[in-house]
Amino acid sequence: MKIAIASGKGGTGKTSLAVALLHANAERARLLDCDVEEPNCHLFLSHTVIGHKAVELLIPQVNPNLCKLCGKCVEACQFNAIAIAGNQVMIFNELCHSCGGCARICPHGAIQEFPVKIGELSQSRCKNEAELLTGTLEIGHASAPAVIKAAKKALPLQDVPFTLIDSPPGTACTFVAAVEDSDFVFLVTEATPFGLNDLKLAVEALLNMELPFAIIVNRIQSETNLITDYANQQGFPIWLQIPEDRHIAETYARGGNLLDVKPELKKVLRELLDRCQP
Ligand code: SF4
Ligand code: SF4
Repeated sequence: MKIAIASGKGGTGKTSLAVALLHANAERARLLDCDVEEPNCHLFLSHTVIGHKAVELLIPQVNPNLCKLCGKCVEACQFNAIAIAGNQVMIFNELCHSCGGCARICPHGAIQEFPVKIGELSQSRCKNEAELLTGTLEIGHASAPAVIKAAKKALPLQDVPFTLIDSPPGTACTFVAAVEDSDFVFLVTEATPFGLNDLKLAVEALLNMELPFAIIVNRIQSETNLITDYANQQGFPIWLQIPEDRHIAETYARGGNLLDVKPELKKVLRELLDRCQP
């Protein structure tokens, strides 16, 4: 099963939960860090890197000796990644989605595609024997969804029942790329007005994608709060509420994890994965 851990906004404790889930289920889970613009699961897992792989996209280049400045490639590009400026064709790599349309349409064979590195996948073995795959977007590139998709395709070789996916925060295209083919999604939020607002956006996105989900509320000060009110009204399940605890924050700041402070949650975190199964 692919189980995504997502949140409508950053800072809710999504990564902390993903890492704790891996610790609690080490012999039967692996973790993909798909928060490719800021991957940080590795900071909380004692691990050894065992392999790297570049993520590349084919980016077009124009041969000025063959180009007749007809403008067909500019018309064809749906991403505004090509422009004619003066007597030359310019390609904006950051906007290019590597669709290959311009190279196919050029009537003069002036466009060729070349691989450009846009990110990297790094495979690690954790001290607890679980595998971690980290996707990292190269600075200056905007193709985060392509790196996320590459990370999900390059699943580690170890055969385990659960693949945990630490998704990027928000509900933009990177969120969609990370969660879209998951079997279940945990939506991590906090009981604040901002948390509720962003949770609603994330829920709407998941309902549109018809993905099953459960809500996890982090840093609660009361068992009854504005997230439980909302979830009860809408009939959405809340599977776990984690109390506000200064020791958790301190441990996290030192690179520790939730189970270091609350080892009793191990059983609960194992049951969370069991409950995702149909
Ligand atoms: S389609 Fe080909 S020939 Fe026309 S402007 Fe683009 S690169 Fe030049
Ligand atoms: S490959 Fe596609 S996205 Fe990139 S410049 Fe060509 S038409 Fe535009």
